[in-house]
Amino acid sequence: MIWDELEVNLNQLAVDGLRRQKLTLDTPCGPVVIVGGRKLITFCSNDYLGLANHPSIIAAVREAAERWGVGSGASHIVSGHFRPHEELEERLRSFVERERALYFTTGYMANLAVVPTLVKRNDAIFSDRLNHASLIDAALLARSEHIRFPHCDIASLAKCLERSRARRKLILTDAVFSMEGDLAPLPDLFTLAERFDAWLLVDDAHGFGVLGSGGRGSISYYGLPPSPRLILMGTLGKAAGVSGAFVAGDRRVIDWITQKARPYIFTTASSPLIAAALLASIELIEKGESLRTHLRYLICRLQDKLFGLPWRILPSTTAIQPLMIGENKSAMQISDRLFKNGFWVPAIRPPTVPNGTARLRISLSAAHNEAQIDALIRALYECAADGLL
Ligand SMILES: *Cc1c(COP(=O)(O)O)cnc(C)c1O
Repeated sequence: MIWDELEVNLNQLAVDGLRRQKLTLDTPCGPVVIVGGRKLITFCSNDYLGLANHPSIIAAVREAAERWGVGSGASHIVSGHFRPHEELEERLRSFVERERALYFTTGYMANLAVVPTLVKRNDAIFSDRLNHASLIDAALLARSEHIRFPHCDIASLAKCLERSRARRKLILTDAVFSMEGDLAPLPDLFTLAERFDAWLLVDDAHGFGVLGSGGRGSISYYGLPPSPRLILMGTLGKAAGVSGAFVAGDRRVIDWITQKARPYIFTTASSPLIAAALLASIELIEKGESLRTHLRYLICRLQDKLFGLPWRILPSTTAIQPLMIGENKSAMQISDRLFKNGFWVPAIRPPTVPNGTARLRISLSAAHNEAQIDALIRALYECAADGLL
């Protein structure tokens, strides 16, 4: 039968230690959750500021439910665009200081919308090798030539751009790389975009809310000037604690995406409740300096105390703290042991990361306290002492 092959493939995944499991949480997103009746300290969510269960956001949603109901009923360009959506776009636009902002249901959709709208067949995309899967899929959808340059290698990108005869060029980059925690050299990328007349799309999924003044993100962190060629994508399900994403930039660029992007036009608008939640969230982000300060403190504490492990902690200054293990099986074993001891730290394996670079991805949040970080550090040293290499 046609499904027999799937059975074989699924079994092979298990043999290779690549079978993914989803667990069911019985409590809200936070530093401590209950799964299968067990209490766990979590280091796996992208809720970097601890807003996912914030009382002001919950209150905003309650109020919005009374006022707006639940469903949006249609796509934004038909009749699904409500006052909270409009206010959200205006708030985002002024917050990130761009001419216009467009709200999307998810970051994945935002990337699928922007890339094929700006470049087509006969154009060229230049993509950092470690970019997020959504940017890679977006490039496939665009059917452009897709050139992947070595991670953060500006000289190599310059050569690729120089050689290219494509009419339109688009550079794609994560601002904070989701499995490394390092920052893209945005000022250098922007300089190259200027020199070769290319677009630069910056995916700030892990920088928005966390980096830059008031949490405005990586572009603000680096002080990049507003430019029509610079397109900012930020997601709202990570530090913002809700869901969705936005694309911000030049008014013509955003208008063109609104007119032409199929993943924008042919999908139902998210609930106005979500937009109301996000308006409350952006308020908290803007005033969240103490959250960001606490998060930075936890990052330094973890970095300082893990250098004695047999595994290398990548030198990341962001909330994403990868501990490099190597083999899939070892990464799984350590993750399993931590889980048994009450810590939820995901093992990230291929194809999410290159072969031989399986790692624990420790995600920190401003909602963690110092004792929780110290407990994790102790648990990791115990794994090492038990010879889980
Ligand atoms: C999470 C993520 C996305 C996708 O955003 P969603 O809103 O979760 O769909 C896109 N790019 C990067 C770099 C991400 O980490």
